[in-house]
Amino acid sequence: MNVYELDRIEHLRDWLALSHQVYQAVENDLGNCNWQPIEHGEVVKFKPNVRPLVSPKSLFFSEQENMFVFDGEKFRETLPEHGPRVIFGVSACDLTAISYQDKHFRKDPYYQARRQQTLLVGIDCTKPCDGGFCRSVDAGPHVKDEIADLILTPMPSIGGENTGWWLICSSDAGRAAVSGMDLRRADSSWSSWREMNRRHTEAEFKSDVHIINGIQRINARAVPDELWERLAHQCISCSGCSQLCPTCSCYATRDVAEDTNMVRQRVWDSCLMVGFQKEASGANPAAEAGRRMYRYWYHKFSEDYVAQMGRYGCVGCGRCESTCPGSVGVHSIMEKISNA
Ligand code: SF4
Ligand code: SF4
Repeated sequence: MNVYELDRIEHLRDWLALSHQVYQAVENDLGNCNWQPIEHGEVVKFKPNVRPLVSPKSLFFSEQENMFVFDGEKFRETLPEHGPRVIFGVSACDLTAISYQDKHFRKDPYYQARRQQTLLVGIDCTKPCDGGFCRSVDAGPHVKDEIADLILTPMPSIGGENTGWWLICSSDAGRAAVSGMDLRRADSSWSSWREMNRRHTEAEFKSDVHIINGIQRINARAVPDELWERLAHQCISCSGCSQLCPTCSCYATRDVAEDTNMVRQRVWDSCLMVGFQKEASGANPAAEAGRRMYRYWYHKFSEDYVAQMGRYGCVGCGRCESTCPGSVGVHSIMEKISNA
């Protein structure tokens, strides 16, 4: 594996921006971070250890997109057209979610048209984010080699000041992207520093007993239906959790008229919505709110899905907790389930 020394993160971003459209999470006036394009030479400081309000999910699985157009005679496919892109500075939880979505959408040409053009630059977290529990679901805080093309990990700090970064090239595409950059090879000490950093960060996470107990109870089918129903009464079906969750992939399709054409669109949906599973016959296997609440959390933590997808459907980002107006985000749910 090629590992280099890097003085400033922005130096790498600027190099990549010469040949790619770069996206980075940028803080707005309200203190929220969102993914934005950054041009070559643009002066935008990179902030490590931030969890953007939204994950990069929509850069692959678009919130709304056209699938095909029918002009009355012929169908025309509308695949997205993209040049090479870089998603820069993605934390381990969001990269784990992208690798999960890669499996789910492996045969989806719309997702793949964007994904195949994208280089992922990951960054190791050095402190837990608010409400995050990536450590408990094997999704962080450090980036696994196989889920990024390039990985940034901090060198030891002196007096609280960062002294630089190690740049790990973990894929052929990552290696090719930095070839030509004037970089110094790292000496072998980088891996033991990185490991020490990982242990130190993991030790800072809060107790995850309620998460572990909750997962066990969901898998033992030990949560009574009445509790799911009671929890569901707190849900106002705003779909905020599904929108922000980096692994949620539910969608609906609709046909809209545009001039003389008919356009088939795909839009994000949520399994917490009453009509999500409604069939053409009118039957609805999840007509009761409790069934929908159970289904959502079962999808996140069931061992049945681990067998299918290779891991839990939750990467521990904590976004559902921070957005839910009804206090049925992951921590609140798991506390109630584990104490039931
Ligand atoms: S269920 Fe909640 S904590 Fe888990 S990945 Fe989705 S938003 Fe993040
Ligand atoms: S964020 Fe809360 S209230 Fe909104 S759909 Fe999700 S569980 Fe329901």
